[in-house]
Amino acid sequence: MKLVFATNNKNKVLEIKTLLPKSIEILSLADIGCTEDIEETEVTLQGNAKLKADYITKNYGYDCFADDTGLEVKALNGAPGVYSARYAGLNASYKDNVYKMLREMKGLLNRKAQFRTVIALNLNGSQFIFEGRCKGEIAKEEQGKNGFGYDPIFKPVGFDKTFAEMNLEDKGKISHRGLAVKELVKFLNAIKSKK
Ligand code: IMP
Repeated sequence: MKLVFATNNKNKVLEIKTLLPKSIEILSLADIGCTEDIEETEVTLQGNAKLKADYITKNYGYDCFADDTGLEVKALNGAPGVYSARYAGLNASYKDNVYKMLREMKGLLNRKAQFRTVIALNLNGSQFIFEGRCKGEIAKEEQGKNGFGYDPIFKPVGFDKTFAEMNLEDKGKISHRGLAVKELVKFLNAIKSKK
């Protein structure tokens, strides 16, 4: 089976490739010649995931899936959520966002947060939605060099280290994206066994 993963984020492609079985071939946007930036204009993770998957299916004709992820922080009433990529402003870098989060959380005792990923899959003319969550807390300072985004300041529940101190495989076993992809794979395998 061939599926396009509608993202330009190389880290996400790497993560997904370690999570999916070899029988599912993943094509990146570069592989299908899509160089445009698909703007995330919706106000929910599900809305943005659908928007990206639909853009590819409509314009390029491929079966496709897209994810959208948000970091939801309790003490910030669920912010930055769907706006996580733009938390420190349009075109904010990973570091800008991490430093803004550390500033906002300075001195706060309640550091509970969760990552939530929604995946929209377009397959044979139908759309399917999958979700994964990972609960944890915002660290007081950056720890670790792996991963991307908020990884250096997110400690998943049950671990005394951040995602940035884990390797891809260990992160994938417990992460929001890992759990959402697990649901996606379960679904694809169920379809395969019915054929
Ligand atoms: P998006 O899904 O690419 O829109 O991600 C929204 C924001 O969350 C971006 O700033 C990403 O860097 C960040 N992000 C997404 N997934 C992860 C992750 O697995 N770890 C850390 N940050 C992430």
